[in-house]
Amino acid sequence: MYNGFVNAIDVDFTIPENAAKIKAAFEQVDKEKGLVCPVVIGGEKIITEKKIASLDPATKEVLGYTCSASAEMVDKAIVLANDVFKTWSKTSLDERIRCMRKLATLLDENRYYLDAWNCVESGKNWAEADGELCELLDFINSYVAHMKELDKGLPVIQTAEHNVCKWIPVGVGATVSPWNFPVGLFANMLIAAAITGNTSVSKPASNTPICAYKFFELMEKCGVPAGVINFVPGSGSEIGDLLVDHPLTRFINFTGSKEVGCRIYERAAKVNPGQIWLKRVVAEMGGKNAIIVDSSANIKKAANGVAMSAFTFQGQKCSACSRALVMADVYEEFVEALVAEAAALKADQGCGRDNHMIGPVSSKEAYDKITSYIEIGRGEGTIVHGGTYSDEIGYFIDPTVIRDIKRTDRIANEEIFGPVVAVIKVDSFDEALDIANQTEYGLTGSVYSETRENVIKAKETFNVGNLYFNRKCTAAVVLQHPFGGFNMSGTDAKTGTPYYLTNFMNLKAISEDIAE
Ligand code: NAP
Ligand code: MG
Repeated sequence: MYNGFVNAIDVDFTIPENAAKIKAAFEQVDKEKGLVCPVVIGGEKIITEKKIASLDPATKEVLGYTCSASAEMVDKAIVLANDVFKTWSKTSLDERIRCMRKLATLLDENRYYLDAWNCVESGKNWAEADGELCELLDFINSYVAHMKELDKGLPVIQTAEHNVCKWIPVGVGATVSPWNFPVGLFANMLIAAAITGNTSVSKPASNTPICAYKFFELMEKCGVPAGVINFVPGSGSEIGDLLVDHPLTRFINFTGSKEVGCRIYERAAKVNPGQIWLKRVVAEMGGKNAIIVDSSANIKKAANGVAMSAFTFQGQKCSACSRALVMADVYEEFVEALVAEAAALKADQGCGRDNHMIGPVSSKEAYDKITSYIEIGRGEGTIVHGGTYSDEIGYFIDPTVIRDIKRTDRIANEEIFGPVVAVIKVDSFDEALDIANQTEYGLTGSVYSETRENVIKAKETFNVGNLYFNRKCTAAVVLQHPFGGFNMSGTDAKTGTPYYLTNFMNLKAISEDIAE
């Protein structure tokens, strides 16, 4: 169905040869420490006076700097991308696909190097970093397959007229990405724009600009002409509005927090002077994901699934579990099992290079926010594991389990985005579903149950974009679990699918009278 599409396979770091390769990549990263990533507009690399430092969250060491694009540079990049669009949009799909295939090859060749940068800049462990790279390869390969199909256009009825309905690119897109998938999500947006025949101006997250730039450099080498992609790092609060408001911006592709996503959605709705279209917004935002554990569940498996969903990458995945809704008759057994799982995952100082399971949270800002929520949770419930943290060396927070949280409590409703799980006791499966659906978000969810009736009910009622049974609620795989959320989790973009790509295209219906 998808032209022989096969998901990329993770590197097995238990193989000594592979571990040696990533260790060598860390040495390369160390040699490059202190590097300065430029603004890149139409292939021109610009070094600005103003720079943003990027820190290793495990050590607080400065890894390097990124230049900070000025308002004039943002304008220049969008105007230039609009010019380049005129030729890139006419470039054959075959040529665009050739570039994407070359890009996939370059990513594969530089895989350990990109993984190493990801580990030091975001605090991921090796497997999480490489999982992100696999997802990126899957995005590329899936979009190639989808574009071949989409290029056939929409089937239309033929009469005495010759009728065609084809997908065409729309123009310049602004892309704004988060720090938690600093290679993959940044890249996904540039790839989706380029393969559909659009051009883009891209702002990486200020916490992780080096990862983004390392990808950008590779994409520059894949054959896309200068100006198809442009790199405009800078603080979101300084240049975000300029990217969104610009009258030449045709679409905004955003992933990040609800607050910023809502701001973008609102601003993009305004038609500015000189603008002759309505902007499209793809906004993928936060989550407050729940896992339900019913009385018939395999409790050990459920506890492991909750721990893996809540604590891997320090709970900083939009899909992470932050609420466990557990039936009263298995509640004590579950809490005990979850504490045992969490105990095996203590935050280890010095992650990244050493490949510990749990590393630092991303920044001082994240550390302050998460620890303040832990203190709120300490008041709202009882901490039975973790609740301990230190920023002496890096930003480390132990996996934290808080029991006896009520559905009305703050930590039962607000996104924390850290290794903290609230455990809530429920008296019925209906109550669990009701609590699961009570937040403003609707991203992922999972149910552990061996009761068919409950499984069927949850399939209909649990209102999330990605719903799982008897497995964790993280680790969506491209074309196995198309990803995107409901409600305040976003516009349900379903990355990796043909529907994602059609966000960035128009359908043009062309009809020619062929009768005598
Ligand atoms: P964030 O604070 O919203 O930042 C995301 C991006 O928006 C960054 O590049 C940021 O730039 C930029 N930005 C900030 N203010 C802006 C403005 N006024 N206009 C335009 N852009 C602006 O989110 P984050 O802290 O990086 O990421 C965590 C959030 O992302 C969580 O809520 C998580 O759930 C969500 N997320 C969702 C998904 C999904 O698929 N649904 C995936 C991953 C993450 P600076 O870095 O310069 O501030
Ligand atoms: Mg932020």
